[in-house]
Amino acid sequence: MEKILIVEDEPAIAESVAYALKRKGFDVQIAPTLGDARQAMLAAPDLLILDLMLPDGSGFELIDEIAASGRGGSIIVLSSREDENDRVRALEGGADDYVTKPFSPREVVARVGAVLRRSASLTPAAKSTLPFTIDPDARKIAFEGHGIDLTRVEFDLLRLLTSEPEKVFSRSAMIDSIWGPGFALSDRTVDSHIKALRRKLSEAGGQSDWIETIRGIGYRFTLNSSSE
Ligand code: CA
Repeated sequence: MEKILIVEDEPAIAESVAYALKRKGFDVQIAPTLGDARQAMLAAPDLLILDLMLPDGSGFELIDEIAASGRGGSIIVLSSREDENDRVRALEGGADDYVTKPFSPREVVARVGAVLRRSASLTPAAKSTLPFTIDPDARKIAFEGHGIDLTRVEFDLLRLLTSEPEKVFSRSAMIDSIWGPGFALSDRTVDSHIKALRRKLSEAGGQSDWIETIRGIGYRFTLNSSSE
């Protein structure tokens, strides 16, 4: 049973979403503040439904903390703010999806299902072909015995690219796979995550050109880089 944590200070919203999710068989917890959410995160929820405006701070703080910790789990952001900047900032910070209030609990349940299916469908490559190991359960990678801390999005991008080494993935295919089809996300968002990923691989002693830029299209993972 997948564990879902709802971080939301408005009881009516939290309870209606919790009720709808419990009916679908999810194990649901509610945290009305950031402080409560940090405690509840110790139970390693599979998915976080996160309000951005909380009594003791912003949901962005939690997004940043989770990204910095390299911890697994998906995030769906809830907000009454329709500001596109918030949406982009949440997605760039590692959120998987975004729902604007008011919404129906059914809509949230559908999005939870979609996000969980997406994260389960990113299959890891055969370990033997890669210079590092990928642990999909812990959502961690290790190179020559040393762990490399990746954000959720960096991990998912690396896992996607290494699922089929040598295959060229377009930026839009990457957005579809990581964030979901039809997400209005700029190509530069993908580029900035790839840039960070290359830097981390290279700092860990790997090679940044394992991820090759295919000009005008996207990226591929290759151990035989031919980049000029
Ligand atoms: Ca709120």
